[in-house]
Amino acid sequence: MSTVQHTAPRLPGLGDWTDAAGLRRVQEDRLPGALAQATRSRFHHDRIASAGPVRTVGDLGRLPVMDKADLRANYPFGLLAVDRTDVATYHESSGTSGDPTSSYFTDADWYDVVDRFARNAIDLGPGDTLLVRTPYALLTTGHQAHLAGRHRGATVVPADNRSTVVTHARVVRLLRDLDVTVAWCLPTEAFLWAAAAQAAGLRPSVDFPRLRGLVVAGEPLSPSRQARISEIWGGIPVLQDYGSTETGSLAGECGAGRLHLWADRFIPEVLDPVTGHSATSGSGELVITTLYRQAMPLVRYNLRDHVRIDGDGCPCGLPLPTVEVLGRHEASCTVGGRRITQRQLEELVFGLPGVLFWRARAGSRLEVQIELAGADPSSTLEALIASRTGVTAEVEVVPPGTIVPAEVLTRLPEFTKPRTLFGAGDDWDRAVSYW
Ligand SMILES: [Zn+2]
Repeated sequence: MSTVQHTAPRLPGLGDWTDAAGLRRVQEDRLPGALAQATRSRFHHDRIASAGPVRTVGDLGRLPVMDKADLRANYPFGLLAVDRTDVATYHESSGTSGDPTSSYFTDADWYDVVDRFARNAIDLGPGDTLLVRTPYALLTTGHQAHLAGRHRGATVVPADNRSTVVTHARVVRLLRDLDVTVAWCLPTEAFLWAAAAQAAGLRPSVDFPRLRGLVVAGEPLSPSRQARISEIWGGIPVLQDYGSTETGSLAGECGAGRLHLWADRFIPEVLDPVTGHSATSGSGELVITTLYRQAMPLVRYNLRDHVRIDGDGCPCGLPLPTVEVLGRHEASCTVGGRRITQRQLEELVFGLPGVLFWRARAGSRLEVQIELAGADPSSTLEALIASRTGVTAEVEVVPPGTIVPAEVLTRLPEFTKPRTLFGAGDDWDRAVSYW
């Protein structure tokens, strides 16, 4: 029997409060109902009951913190807080361990997710053609953007990712022939398309005049790489979204270049992992409590992302706290006893003009390769890396095609279907295999 509503829920809008006190009232009003909903799940029931009364946001600290390990341990439906018939979609992500992490949403949950995503400053509308180039398979990312585009009346082009039928060359054709106005993708994709466009004889900054912006997510992104993406596509805005498969969008970038937390839909805290103390602003691990989630409420869910939350206002005027993501799934290594992160290196590499593709690996010294034709800024970069990080690097300029082979940029789609009858000269080892 259905226990939830299937129509659009009443959600707070950005005009419903004007300051931090108003936002707090929105959170306080919703918290008791959110905790009551969470209590319906096997996982939360005893945890909430044994914490004693939690009536206000200030009481939240009494509840235990949970993280992805709890989601894995309760695979697949240990956090289910609605009847199975009310689950609209099921999703999964998997870490390096390969153990699945489930997430599921009701129709009403999706209204919330989509509405949050659509708050991004790119401001999708009926005049837009939105290319969705993040994965659809099991994850939420592709579906989130797809539904947000539909919600705002845009034309959606479901290009997917990690698919043999939509290669980078095909994306370039779609961007150009369909007059795509906005694309949703990984930051790295924006470089691959630029290189694929160039390989097809096109100029990314000139030959895609309708492309008005990119919304990116899924990778750490330094300001200099963000600026390079914008530059190569003719100066268009490149706006970040920050979220996860388990939660959907948690923050979106405003016109002033800051990420705003959707704190009317969940309560954010920053947790000091050493002391266990949490606060509403400052630095620490981001912990959230969902206020509207029906199918899989999250109560004090630690995303294990190191962030800084600032509630002091933003030039854009949006009365929501801002977040700076300081470290997330970030690659780092140690060279000569010194730790260096991908973000540190990226910030320096993209300070050089013209760079799109580069790679580095640790050894007795840091080996760095950058793809460039013509210029050789290797000694400049070596000096920069040494002075900023203390790491000794050996930088080599390599010709275009070394790191990203030309074939990756020009490959055409493979269309295959199941087949069992073959001609005399055909390869019948492909029988039934159509992937
Ligand atoms: Zn702002």
